[in-house]
Amino acid sequence: MKALADVTAKYLTDGWQSATRTFEVVEPASGKVLANVADCDAQAARRAADVAWEAFERWRATSAFERSDVLARWHDLIIANTEALATTMTREMGKPLKESRGEVKYAAGFVRWYAEEAKRVYGDLFPAQDPTKRLLAMPQPVGPAFAITPWNFPLAMVTRKAAPALAAGCTFVLKPAEQSPVSALLLADLWLEAGGPAGTLQVLPTSDPAPLSTVLIEDPRIRKLTFTGSTEVGRVLYAQAATTVKRISLELGGHAPFLVFGDADLDNAVAQVMASKFRNAGQTCVCANRIYVHSSLAEEFTERYAAAAERLVVGDPLDAATDVGPLVDAQAVAKVERHVAEAVDGGARVVTGGKRLGGLYYAPTVLAGVRRDALLMREETFGPVAPIVTFETEAEAVRLANDTPFGLAAYVYTRDLGRAFRVSEALEYGIVGVNDGTPSAPYAPFGGVKQSGIGREGGPWGIQEYLNLKYVALGLGKA
Ligand code: NAD
Repeated sequence: MKALADVTAKYLTDGWQSATRTFEVVEPASGKVLANVADCDAQAARRAADVAWEAFERWRATSAFERSDVLARWHDLIIANTEALATTMTREMGKPLKESRGEVKYAAGFVRWYAEEAKRVYGDLFPAQDPTKRLLAMPQPVGPAFAITPWNFPLAMVTRKAAPALAAGCTFVLKPAEQSPVSALLLADLWLEAGGPAGTLQVLPTSDPAPLSTVLIEDPRIRKLTFTGSTEVGRVLYAQAATTVKRISLELGGHAPFLVFGDADLDNAVAQVMASKFRNAGQTCVCANRIYVHSSLAEEFTERYAAAAERLVVGDPLDAATDVGPLVDAQAVAKVERHVAEAVDGGARVVTGGKRLGGLYYAPTVLAGVRRDALLMREETFGPVAPIVTFETEAEAVRLANDTPFGLAAYVYTRDLGRAFRVSEALEYGIVGVNDGTPSAPYAPFGGVKQSGIGREGGPWGIQEYLNLKYVALGLGKA
């Protein structure tokens, strides 16, 4: 098992990560300092780009079988270190330990999938009109990739990018979120232990993301920018990436509608909206944010939902019984308080919760009678707040669901197969869960439309983001 102190000490002194300054990573649950990590600056970014470029020449020349072997060993080491990784994640960003253990498995799932997929990056030999020609489409690694990830899934958001990139033959420079760099450092240490060559995976923690990121985004040798985070920051990075015309993947904010039709299985809908809304204290991009319930079911749904929310155990995330931990920081709590206050001012009824519980804890909250134009129906709340709105017709439900600039995940609860298809097709979202509140999987395409992003992660689609297709036309000449 990895010792946290060893790893952070190592990354304060090792080569490309040597930094003269450090910054504190603070545990949201206790307010205590978990670790001091290197605070990388623009100069560290320039060095990282040099290293990634040099390492790329060697890594791209390895066989897919060799890369697959390293990834497979990395997967096994991640699983073997589940407890260290899970505890670190829980301490650095506050998600309950049982969820952190689940995230380790989910994160490792991407590594395993791409260990396998590395060997299935096929090209094509396709027909030419001219019989003396042979035409090929040849996939090749894009080149060094720069990734920026958020704190809400400190491991999975990294492996979902790093595994396909490394499998494809790209090198990878990661800037983790300020709140959760330690999990990323542990992951990188395991990559080296698995036999990953030096320089193929670099982690640059920083307390000041913009200057460091600008260096990497403007460096023409970095060929790809992959970002997961808010739409606001994504827009800035998209514009910056245009200066060097980089390949780009953006996994941005969501504002998921959860539609419960009159024919839905109520037990299932309530159980799944619980998981979708209160997982990670509501701090996920695919969280149910706007819950639309057919008026015939609204009362019963609301009652059952509130009762289930009251049964949740809120407390120390390191305690195995905890369902809901603290929010990540004071800003997050302030946003939740602002959204709830605005909704209540507009006439919403607090069915349960609706208050801060001390520290960074906020009570799981269900609000009924929420106005359709309330702030929390327009913006991602990123907290444990479930606003319920009623509807009458299928067309109205679809219109309400689509009435947002976001388009990441949506959920539909119905037992009518025709409706399941009609509504899934009409929803302007990248992901639709039909009677399924947790559709994400390493082998499935994850990503948004509209202002929720560009590109897909996971499955065979995810590796394409790290491959360029080269067309080779071969004239055969005469014998
Ligand atoms: P954020 O956009 O504030 O930060 C994300 C990352 O961007 C962090 O690493 C941060 O340091 C970095 N960053 C911030 N400003 C930057 C700048 N100017 N230049 C370079 N880097 C910069 O988002 P957050 O609050 O950490 O994460 C929550 C957001 O992420 C939510 O909107 C959520 O929906 C989204 N998210 C999306 C997905 C997805 O797959 N679509 C997954 C998880 C989270």
